[in-house]
Amino acid sequence: MINDPAVLTGVVLSGAHGIYDVHTDEGILRCTLRGKLKKAFAQAVKASTSKPRPHKFFDSMPFRRTERIEKRNSSENPLPTRLAVGDYVKVRRLDVSEGWIEEILPRQSSLSRQDAGSTEKKNIQQTMLANLDQVVLVFAATQPEPHFGLLDRYLAICEAAQLRALICLNKADLPYDKRVDEAAELYRRIGYNVIWTSIVTGQGTDTLYASLKDHTSLFTGPSGVGKSSLINVIEPGMALRIGMISDATGKGRHTTTGTTLYPLSEGGWLADSAGIRALAAWNIAPEELAACFVEFRPYLGECLYSDCSHIDEEGCAIIQAVDDGVIDERRHRSYTRIYLGEER
Ligand code: GDP
Ligand code: ZN
Repeated sequence: MINDPAVLTGVVLSGAHGIYDVHTDEGILRCTLRGKLKKAFAQAVKASTSKPRPHKFFDSMPFRRTERIEKRNSSENPLPTRLAVGDYVKVRRLDVSEGWIEEILPRQSSLSRQDAGSTEKKNIQQTMLANLDQVVLVFAATQPEPHFGLLDRYLAICEAAQLRALICLNKADLPYDKRVDEAAELYRRIGYNVIWTSIVTGQGTDTLYASLKDHTSLFTGPSGVGKSSLINVIEPGMALRIGMISDATGKGRHTTTGTTLYPLSEGGWLADSAGIRALAAWNIAPEELAACFVEFRPYLGECLYSDCSHIDEEGCAIIQAVDDGVIDERRHRSYTRIYLGEER
């Protein structure tokens, strides 16, 4: 079986009713699961209903909604219980357009929706998207004015989910407030990659495209910032496919519940609006929040009280760092707002 030319590695782009479209170097193959894999899945589903799931960190997080992203050590869970969009698979090619899925490769991450219905089903995870590894957070430098509190919220979600966040500041061709430059500098200083773009001058679009190569990415951000425009510059027609249409309702036209991945011609995949909705619904437990603000991390464990919420306690190392000008005051305000569950 080593180097069998009929066996290809690919990524599941979509799936329904046991039929999966798999993207390989030799095109997209319509595939079914090979018999023994089907059996293994059925057994794994049975086993998962009787055992608690193994993950510690995310199990301790109370979720107001049921979506979650989890990172698993592949040795902990070598075989996913179900095939999901985004999974890497080995496919045996049967003819020009069809194949058999013979093997699933270990997952690096999964964006899931837990069935909150019956208790018996509680441990069955419906994975929305496997192996998502990057989120592009798009904001406009102006029109609309950037809402950095919302950006901070998205950044925290990405940290909680261990997803790489890329900040894209679009409409760089328009005159904008200098506080946007200051904010960009702040995000850079704390370690985020900031890309300035414009679909008018073309600034930054090559850099953005290059950063998507070989990643499974998702674009999100407020409406009107230029997400569809940017995506269409990168790959004509793509915004419509991923359901990112700026129509009057702001909802796009996608009606299916499953996620779909779309291949980029230079390599890499983009997730559609179902994946975006699942990410937006993520909730971070208050006690995990401070660690999701990357520049707070060196101070964790340094406060007077071990259960310090870093909001207004005396002897708080984080508040001290804000007073000393080491931690940005606005970031601390964002933290406080999210912690207190205030509207964005
Ligand atoms: P979305 O809602 O985030 O998908 O935003 P759209 O792509 O629909 O863009 C909203 C508006 O901003 C449209 O009128 C675009 O033409 C405009 N726009 C998008 N990108 C830029 C840009 O880089 N510069 C300027 N000046 N306008 C832009
Ligand atoms: Zn504190």
